[in-house]
Amino acid sequence: MNNALDLAGIGIGPFNLSLAAVSEKNSALRAHFFDEKPLFQWHSEIIFPDSDMQTAFLKDLVTGVDPTSPYSYLNYLVQNGLFHSFMNTNRNVVTRKEFELYCRWVTQQMSEKLSFNCRIETLDYDGKLFTIGTKTKNFKAKNICVGTGISPKIPAFAETHIGKDFFHAKSEFLKNLDARNKRIVIIGGGQTGVEIFRNALKGKWGCAKSVTIISSRPNLEPLDESAFTNEYFSPNYADDFFTINTQLKIKIVDYQKLSSDGNTPSYLQSLYNDLYYSQNVEKSPVNFKILPFRRLESARKNNKYYELCLTNHFTQKKERLYADVVILCTGFENSVPKFINSIRHLIQFDENDSFRINKDFSIQWEGHSDNKIFAQNFSRYEHGIFEPQTSLMAWRSAVITNAVSQKQVYQIKNFVPNFLSYDCVK
Ligand SMILES: Cc1cc2nc3c(=O)[nH]c(=O)nc-3n(C[C@H](O)[C@H](O)[C@H](O)COP(=O)(O)OP(=O)(O)OC[C@H]3O[C@@H](n4cnc5c(N)ncnc54)[C@H](O)[C@@H]3O)c2cc1C
Repeated sequence: MNNALDLAGIGIGPFNLSLAAVSEKNSALRAHFFDEKPLFQWHSEIIFPDSDMQTAFLKDLVTGVDPTSPYSYLNYLVQNGLFHSFMNTNRNVVTRKEFELYCRWVTQQMSEKLSFNCRIETLDYDGKLFTIGTKTKNFKAKNICVGTGISPKIPAFAETHIGKDFFHAKSEFLKNLDARNKRIVIIGGGQTGVEIFRNALKGKWGCAKSVTIISSRPNLEPLDESAFTNEYFSPNYADDFFTINTQLKIKIVDYQKLSSDGNTPSYLQSLYNDLYYSQNVEKSPVNFKILPFRRLESARKNNKYYELCLTNHFTQKKERLYADVVILCTGFENSVPKFINSIRHLIQFDENDSFRINKDFSIQWEGHSDNKIFAQNFSRYEHGIFEPQTSLMAWRSAVITNAVSQKQVYQIKNFVPNFLSYDCVK
């Protein structure tokens, strides 16, 4: 890599991997992507055998904009001799483990443009080019794309307790959990919470004394994946949404939460059936509880156990709970990576200290207009609810590819109209 790249991608999660694959259609583009991990991994700490994608497999890294790409899920199936067997599974969504394997296979097909074991720590800008650096090497690029992903969200009061008996689900502590004869309390009733609850009841980490899940929502709320709701995850809706005012965007995205953050309905059904069997047929000794409409307010360590203080929003009373192990399934957050600090003064941030992002997913900044900083997974409140999800990642990669190439490599507007019309009736 002697000459400057046209595009350097920082992070190789699904979003930048999609960009690497989609941008290849412009063969003149010199692109390279970097990740600190030794190989592609997709939230692997919290993948279980019963963890399914919440998105159809055809919404893979590339197919939405280029079904002829060699990096499609279908090509992964064919090249690995899986096609016929896969068809017999009748699946529309695949396991998260297999999606990870598919992405890893894609990384092997394009290994010359991906570097693993490369943590980007520094970023400089000289008015013409960016220089990104690891501890040992520097790379120059005309444009960069930040795809550094999300990190665990930990409530402030919990920070002092973090350790092997009190941890966020996305951590090494989960792998090493010994639940035998312990009171396990899971905080958070989203998909990760219910998956850990179900796996703990099945004895994945040993036979627990009790397993309790606490949710601040009034129920274990289902994902809304109905047809009209799914139009939120379409380029046409993304186009219309981008034009409305910021305050309204926030309200709408919050209202749409369950189209993205709910629990897979079929998973809830299986969990319910498991509980029925365990309690009424098997008469299992494991004691379980689902406590909705509660918020964990504080935690105190008492010798070997934790005393948890909850507010019950149904009875409006305080409650106390005792736990030997507390697993936080309290979600994820974006944070602007540290390497941005050196050019922070050139960048426009919003009131939440997040990037202000243009329609083509470049951030608003005062550098030369030939040099763009793209950002993926930072724009839920600017572009819409689809942005942190995989559904439109291929399309977003096409938008970024066009912008970096400064020409139309992909058609990004050739879609029939949605059935729901938000724009003026013409
Ligand atoms: C458990 C879970 C399940 C999900 N399931 C679905 C689903 O079914 N459907 C769906 O649409 N969405 C799902 N999502 C949401 C979304 O698709 C994922 O969060 C997805 O991983 C986002 O991709 P990403 O590329 O932005 O980030 P990530 O996957 O988080 O990848 C970021 C990468 O950047 C690397 N990195 C970070 N900093 C640096 C640095 N300084 N230098 C080099 N590398 C760096 C990291 O090592 C990492 O590999 C899920 C999210 C979670 C947490």
